Amino acid sequence: MQIEKDRVVTLNYTLKDDSGKVIDQSQNGEFVYLHGANNIIPGLESALAGQATGDKLSVQIAPEDAYGARDESKTQQVPREMFPQDVDIQVGMQFQAQGPDGQALMVIVAAVADDTITVDGNHPLAGVSLNFDVEVLEVRAATEEELTHGHAHGPEGHHQH
Ligand code: ZN
Repeated sequence: MQIEKDRVVTLNYTLKDDSGKVIDQSQNGEFVYLHGANNIIPGLESALAGQATGDKLSVQIAPEDAYGARDESKTQQVPREMFPQDVDIQVGMQFQAQGPDGQALMVIVAAVADDTITVDGNHPLAGVSLNFDVEVLEVRAATEEELTHGHAHGPEGHHQH
């Protein structure tokens, strides 16, 4: 069966950055998604369209079709006292912050100085080209319930939500 809208697809994949470092992977058929429902990044979804069970592909996805370009205006310096006083702030730590419209925003600590912490609100993969090696393990029609929910359900059937 071919991958198209309203099919549920099981994949193995390895995701590397341009230096060849593995960023993420899923093996043993643990990754299942509903095609055509924006469940995965657009560049990967369009590369998979028309593939079938057993197909293997390698695809490079530009940041614009993945997590977007980096936006330097999302990097800011924040006074140290805005952070919990009992935490030893380190580069790479994640915090929940409030965006300009009051929405929740995950930020990553990019630099630490005596009185100032630099935080970065970009997605960790913003500006990164993604190199996927993908194997299509299974393609099946989505169930009515999956289509209603807009996502795939695992082999155990329905989950709570
Ligand atoms: Zn569901």
